[in-house]
Amino acid sequence: QINGPVRVRFAPSPTGYLHLGGLRTALFNYLTAKKYGGAFILRIEDTDSKRFVKGATESIIKMLDWAGIRYDEGPGRENSAKGPYFQSQRTDLYRHYTQNLLKNGHAYPCFCKASDLESMRQLAQKRGLPPRYDQRCLNLSQAQVQAKMQTGEPYVIRFRSPDSPISVNDMVYGNIQMKASSLDDAVLLKSDGLPTYHLANVVDDHHMDITHVMRGEEWLVSTPKHLALFKALGWDAPEYIHLPLLLNSDGAKLSKRHGGHADVSSLVKDGYLPEAVVNFVAFLGWNPKTTEEIFTIDSLIDKFSVNGLNRGNPVVNIEKLRWLNKQH
Ligand code: GLU
Repeated sequence: QINGPVRVRFAPSPTGYLHLGGLRTALFNYLTAKKYGGAFILRIEDTDSKRFVKGATESIIKMLDWAGIRYDEGPGRENSAKGPYFQSQRTDLYRHYTQNLLKNGHAYPCFCKASDLESMRQLAQKRGLPPRYDQRCLNLSQAQVQAKMQTGEPYVIRFRSPDSPISVNDMVYGNIQMKASSLDDAVLLKSDGLPTYHLANVVDDHHMDITHVMRGEEWLVSTPKHLALFKALGWDAPEYIHLPLLLNSDGAKLSKRHGGHADVSSLVKDGYLPEAVVNFVAFLGWNPKTTEEIFTIDSLIDKFSVNGLNRGNPVVNIEKLRWLNKQH
């Protein structure tokens, strides 16, 4: 159960256009903010420029606007500017916290080359274990580290993951226990000084006072890492709500190959009404516990409850969308 007010966010990476799964995440976050009171934040996670898709940021913003999903906040929330936030403009913040982690012994520089990591991976595979960094750079002395840095050897900063098990308490998936040995020493800062997803995500969730992280199920495996980072930084973690993966009618993961319906902009092009698409998406993983099928965004806010979210994988049925489109 949620007792408001909340602060929630939609945090897409501009590595592709907005698909139905992303729209569902954005909508449920938006409904949560409206239902329980509070703020809905849009944060563009754009620190990995190698994976950018040209025009994706603009398209994501445009599609949210088309759907009527308005965010409350962006940079300079003091003057309630309407955002969104861009992580690429906040890199000093991520570096600052990396320094704190280094000072407290929760992080360490790693000079391993791609070839070293590859042999670790092969060794793990031979032993039937998941690939894991073997922590060899953790044993470098202060003098060795300094010498390497002086010669300009490239390095990354790794998180020293905790030795104790971590449990995730998810509002949809329940309690999940993770062995400490399943946590890898994740890279926090890359050799170009830019943060990885894990670091930037946790620092921002803290800095933006996020109370509930609601995101796709694919991030559930990263959550123990995030909880460990919150702890190492001395911060309280938010609540977590993971949303099950969407499936095609054939039971496969929803993808563009199936008629292009996964992409919201293609639905716009095909002439679907935003009201119908929002109504359709709302049913993907949420049960209104009524027989009603036609909802406006206002009636969705009225009926929405996180208790109505469920674990089953929702199936995307385009016939239903066609039907809804006629009703709206
Ligand atoms: N940036 C991630 C994505 O593109 C979002 C992860 C999150 O919401 O924590 O899906």
